[in-house]
Amino acid sequence: MQYTEIMVRYGELSTKGKNRKSFIGRLHGNVTKVLKDFPDLKLQPHRDRLHIKLNGTDATPVMDKLKRVFGIQTFSLSVKVSKDFEEVKKTAIEMMHEAYKPGDSFKVATKRSDHTYPLDTNQINLQLGDVICDEFPDIPVDVKHPDIKISVEVRQDGIYLSYLTIKGAGGLPVGTAGKAMLMLSGGIDSPVAGYYAMKRGVDIEMVHFFSPPYTSVQALNKAKELTSKLTVYGGNIKFIEVPFTEIQETIKNKVPEGYLMTVQRRFMLRLTDLIREKEGGLAIFNGEAVGQVASQTLESMAAINDVTTTPILRPVATMDKTEIIRVAEDIDTFDLSIQPFEDCCTIFAPPSPKTKPNMEKTREYESVLDIDGLIQRSMDGIKETIIEHGEHFMDNDQEEINDLL
Ligand code: ATP
Ligand code: MG
Repeated sequence: MQYTEIMVRYGELSTKGKNRKSFIGRLHGNVTKVLKDFPDLKLQPHRDRLHIKLNGTDATPVMDKLKRVFGIQTFSLSVKVSKDFEEVKKTAIEMMHEAYKPGDSFKVATKRSDHTYPLDTNQINLQLGDVICDEFPDIPVDVKHPDIKISVEVRQDGIYLSYLTIKGAGGLPVGTAGKAMLMLSGGIDSPVAGYYAMKRGVDIEMVHFFSPPYTSVQALNKAKELTSKLTVYGGNIKFIEVPFTEIQETIKNKVPEGYLMTVQRRFMLRLTDLIREKEGGLAIFNGEAVGQVASQTLESMAAINDVTTTPILRPVATMDKTEIIRVAEDIDTFDLSIQPFEDCCTIFAPPSPKTKPNMEKTREYESVLDIDGLIQRSMDGIKETIIEHGEHFMDNDQEEINDLL
């Protein structure tokens, strides 16, 4: 079957009233970025649907990309024919031959936006039903739960037929819910948190702390590669790398061991919040899960959160590790996340961090540090890059190298 277009149905945005225009515009932009490697496609956004004209492009790889773009409820592969009804019949039969398995039931469902067309929806349903029954004797019609539904749309410019409807990723188009920072480590949880933020339309920018020479270039590249993985959901993502070495060394020298982790996290949060302000973001996302490790008890979260009133959103807060891993596998970040490159937090992790840090003590231990100076020097060393869909930062053979080591 030579398909001519993909018809994309919008997700929740249909209900968003006057925001509709910006939603459709954003989805159009995101789809354009994700499909940039297919130059012959032509995208036509309409009020209710986005039509993607294939112009000879193979639909399969295009659909693989579309499945991941947030804001799409479903999409269908369709064939456009002229308004000659003989041609419609021929195409419906061809489609049935492609779809049919013995025992299948069917129905034809027609919609007509061109009301000048000589046949109305009932007539089209009946006439096509008849030719299909002639071609497939004994095939049952089932109007409630058909195995095969041939959808026919009579539009001004032609008649469109389809039978395959594929589920999209749901959610809202990335960028429609405003901007936020995601604290991205190289671990399993924070990319999953980023995925959920994007699912609700949030435009995330990655904030990644690294501590050369304690952390390697590979660790930094791993965080960038994880970012690249997330671009499939909505296009380019800004990656902000923040030098953290001086802060970590200073804390290690001046703060009692049990409080190293809490104080480090407070610095990370302060810096992320300053970056957020500079970037015009509204909130901070991270990958914390309640009780997962010492820094993620409610007491710890409270002691760390103490440095800001900015909303901190934790999409994986209530998930079990096994649930988070399942999502990480689905979004294809898991194999990358478990590659053994040290994170700055692991390197300076005390052997037994306080699981219930005391707020007053935390503030007191921190007060001996030149907080403003440390923060300023770190801010001065920030580097930003835009990570585009399809960019790579890691040697593909890394897994093989690991195996050899
Ligand atoms: P993850 O799998 O996301 O690394 P984790 O279970 O290893 O999470 P922690 O290392 O305690 O947890 O980190 C908790 C959260 O703090 C992370 O999910 C991330 O949001 C943030 N974070 C940790 N390390 C960094 C880093 N180097 N740069 C930016 N954010 C970080
Ligand atoms: Mg981690």
